[in-house]
Amino acid sequence: MNINQIFKNNQKWVQDKLDIDANYFKNLSEGQNPDILYIGCSDSRVTAEELMGVSPGEAFVHRNIANMVPNTDLSVMSVIDYAVLHLKVNHVVVCGHYFCGGVKAAMESADLGILNPWLRNIRDVYRTHRIELNGIKEEELRYKRLVELNVQEQCINVIKTAEVQRAYRDRGITVHGWVFDIHSGQLIDLKIDFNKILENVMEIYRLD
Ligand SMILES: [Zn+2]
Repeated sequence: MNINQIFKNNQKWVQDKLDIDANYFKNLSEGQNPDILYIGCSDSRVTAEELMGVSPGEAFVHRNIANMVPNTDLSVMSVIDYAVLHLKVNHVVVCGHYFCGGVKAAMESADLGILNPWLRNIRDVYRTHRIELNGIKEEELRYKRLVELNVQEQCINVIKTAEVQRAYRDRGITVHGWVFDIHSGQLIDLKIDFNKILENVMEIYRLD
């Protein structure tokens, strides 16, 4: 990739936007009011805005390896706090994807240095669901299922936070678990039972 090309692309993008609306950047600079917090994977094939068809200003985005929401990760916890408390988003999405390199690495036993503690979070998901996963004989299907279960577990981690519990009580915020299928380009709603998870979570993690 020619890095200079990026600046040329940017100039063209600016012009294209201004051709449609002369006030586009003036309006953009006045603030953001996104309704969605999107937590996805850093994978270069899984873009956030493009696959959802949303424009700048419409989604607050956080991406990391394998779309994780570790309870002690200051980065993702700050993003959730800011999006829910200050931007007052009404939807939080955790979006995983099939053929995720992070999830694949967690299924293998290689020592990956600094990545080990990060991948351990995914291995914890495997351990939690190992009876179901070990029952899936075909490796690719087991891998796809772990991607789905990882999304579900990260949704639970979102729901555990005090901000989301309070926002649910105050304005009915919802949490969604999605998977992007790289093979087809389709976005799949895992239809996680938000209310049931919240009920179970509240029993243990409730914060008044
Ligand atoms: Zn990934």
